[in-house]
Amino acid sequence: ISLANCTVALHLAMILCDIGENDEVICPSLTFVATVNAVRYVGAIPVFTDIKSYEDLTMDPIDIESKITSKTKAIVVMHYGGFACDMGSIMDLAYKYNLKVIEDACHAPLSEYKGKKLGTIGDIGCFSFFSNKNISTGEGGMLVTNNEELFSRAKLLRSHGMTSMSYERSKGHTTEYDVVDLGFNYRMDDLRAAIGITQLDKLPEDLANRAVVRKNYIEQLQMFEKIIIPFKEYSEFSSNYIFPIVLSASSKTERDSLRQLLAENGIQTSVHYPAVHRFSIYKQFYSELPKTDYVSDNLITLPMYSKLSKLQINEISELFTNYSI
Ligand SMILES: *Cc1c(COP(=O)(O)O)cnc(C)c1O
Repeated sequence: ISLANCTVALHLAMILCDIGENDEVICPSLTFVATVNAVRYVGAIPVFTDIKSYEDLTMDPIDIESKITSKTKAIVVMHYGGFACDMGSIMDLAYKYNLKVIEDACHAPLSEYKGKKLGTIGDIGCFSFFSNKNISTGEGGMLVTNNEELFSRAKLLRSHGMTSMSYERSKGHTTEYDVVDLGFNYRMDDLRAAIGITQLDKLPEDLANRAVVRKNYIEQLQMFEKIIIPFKEYSEFSSNYIFPIVLSASSKTERDSLRQLLAENGIQTSVHYPAVHRFSIYKQFYSELPKTDYVSDNLITLPMYSKLSKLQINEISELFTNYSI
């Protein structure tokens, strides 16, 4: 079901899973804030969980289980960078405690876990086609589900809860409509959908090139003792949405000065992500997440796009030599 963006896909996912006031939803903190905002849109309580390690930045199933209470309704997972969460353990927990699983798969189009596409393992998967994602329609998003009931209700909610669309009415199929649910205008428009279809055709080749970029980075960077390359041994198909590194035995000040040095040499970097549990608006839901805190302060996202050449990657790596790490 195409949608206006992923934020509204996540909002619909919460509604479709019957999550409401004071229900608890287990979520990551090392994610974009929209993952957690969606929990708040329906009045539920976000329960933040830590990541597994500095090498695996996805949610830790042991921490997830320790935070499940009688009020827990769902787990929202986020496949960081296109690398799968431990879905085997997470789906086992969902079964054991009767919880819904919503996958924020914004980073992960066509990425896989044990041969299954990410976004298709839980109850609902959510995708984004914003400008900086693997494929873009400017703004755009999508919700996927295998459940017929959820699918039909999502279609209703996307368009004001109306029982027929103007397209069908203009074709003479129906002249009337009823409004049967409290819906929204969360539609994607036709122009963006057309762009999206073309983008989708180009995706496999783009992802194949990104895999080469990642390989070149790993070859160059693994000699630096201070650089941890998360998911270094990951062997499944990944979209490689971003290329993060984590500095070991470092500090936020040190990380920031390295970013500064890279910027001065024309290399744009980013940080995925400032931890959500430390944002002012989430103070009341604060939780101790030592690994997330460290990574949030010591991670650098390096440039990642399919046309990044081996030569350019060498140039970036050279800068780390000068920094003597
Ligand atoms: C981009 C992103 C979102 C939000 O997607 P929009 O389409 O911009 O609303 C949510 N979660 C994650 C992990 C994202 O990367």
